[in-house]
Amino acid sequence: MASSFVDKVSITVRAGDGGAGAVAFHREKYIAAGGPDGGDGGRGGNIVFRVDDNMSTLMDFRYKRKYTAGNGQPGQGKRCYGKDGETLIIRVPRGTVIRDRASGAVMHDMSTGEDWIAARGGRGGWGNMHFATPTRQVPRFAKPGLPGESLELTLELKLLADVGLVGFPNVGKSTLLSVVSKAHPKIANYHFTTLYPNLGVVYVDEGSSFVMADIPGIIEGASDGAGLGHDFLRHIDRCRLLVHLIDVSGSEGRDPVEDFDAICAELREYSPELAERPQLVVGNKCDLLGEERENVDRLREHVEALGYEFFELSAAAHMGTRELVKACAARLKELPPVPAFEADYVPPEPEIESAEELSIEHFDDLWVVEGPWLQRLVATVNFSDYESRMFFDRVLREAGVFERMEAMGVQDGDTVSMYDLMFEYKS
Ligand code: GDP
Ligand code: MG
Repeated sequence: MASSFVDKVSITVRAGDGGAGAVAFHREKYIAAGGPDGGDGGRGGNIVFRVDDNMSTLMDFRYKRKYTAGNGQPGQGKRCYGKDGETLIIRVPRGTVIRDRASGAVMHDMSTGEDWIAARGGRGGWGNMHFATPTRQVPRFAKPGLPGESLELTLELKLLADVGLVGFPNVGKSTLLSVVSKAHPKIANYHFTTLYPNLGVVYVDEGSSFVMADIPGIIEGASDGAGLGHDFLRHIDRCRLLVHLIDVSGSEGRDPVEDFDAICAELREYSPELAERPQLVVGNKCDLLGEERENVDRLREHVEALGYEFFELSAAAHMGTRELVKACAARLKELPPVPAFEADYVPPEPEIESAEELSIEHFDDLWVVEGPWLQRLVATVNFSDYESRMFFDRVLREAGVFERMEAMGVQDGDTVSMYDLMFEYKS
């Protein structure tokens, strides 16, 4: 049963690679040897996550696990730049928490509604037009583009709703949501109809509204892993207020006080903190009561003794719904916003097998250093950050790169090229 509901998925994202720079030479009639005019490669596209408030599940990710942004196009002759790769936008429901799959660390909480760049495309390589100097007229090389970032992620939905409806199946949660909001949850007279959460915006009065979530019914023993279990409970984790519905009509031969206690026990079992979350208690299906008020009175006494506010309701007959909505709004005003998850992901340092030798070539005073680990290193170092630059410098020294260049005769003032990095040599 739980498998038909998807609120946690693993996906792979890959930003686009940068396009290669072009090696090209200017050609014009009657001009014998034109200068280098190869343009730069385009940048690889980013992977961007965006909140889509029309989504309330991660169902769409079930059959698609790989997401790739466009590669940058290679540069062209005549100083033409390659086109940038297309950005890939991945839409997720609000409240999706994005984690690094291996460590489980939080990378981002998609709750503010702002776009988040998860993986950056590789920079494009420089075309040979960059390498012309008076002494070095015809550079026959250009730079390759850098690879795009690639990540293994886990997406987990922790809905952001102000009010979460809790209660046994069939007590009328979906009915209540459909009555107080414009949401159209499925309503049926059998258990487990709701297999994914429904969200509805409840308008209180001019300019005031809140979001209510109808989550799949909690069943007894859910917290022990029976039935739908924790997969569903995690959805109310971030609700500021719980509305606990109980069927007081006795239509299913159940005892409302026992039902109330059972759900509270489930919540406590899952998370003591959640059990302490402010709760309004609602006896539903009061239209069926008639003269038999024993059930509802007993429940009222029981919950009020525990300090909860109690409401009598008939969601189906629209009785008491207005009062309940107003009470929710009043309580929400006093409650703090639910805190977002803090990112605690630390990107790993690039893998450097400095045993693997780099290639060093030189064209007059231009030195070109290349190799797989250097490419990874350049892609991750942030050159506007001092610490980062020092790290880069240390790695190169430890790998003996500068020593080898000295032995090959590098001079102060020569140009050193490492992928999209270019600097003047200083011993
Ligand atoms: P959920 O499983 O908690 O979401 O319950 P539903 O909203 O799907 O309702 C279950 C059944 O109870 C449906 O047949 C509803 O029409 C019925 N129902 C819901 N609220 C009331 C109510 O206030 N009075 C009566 N008589 N029936 C109700
Ligand atoms: Mg329902």
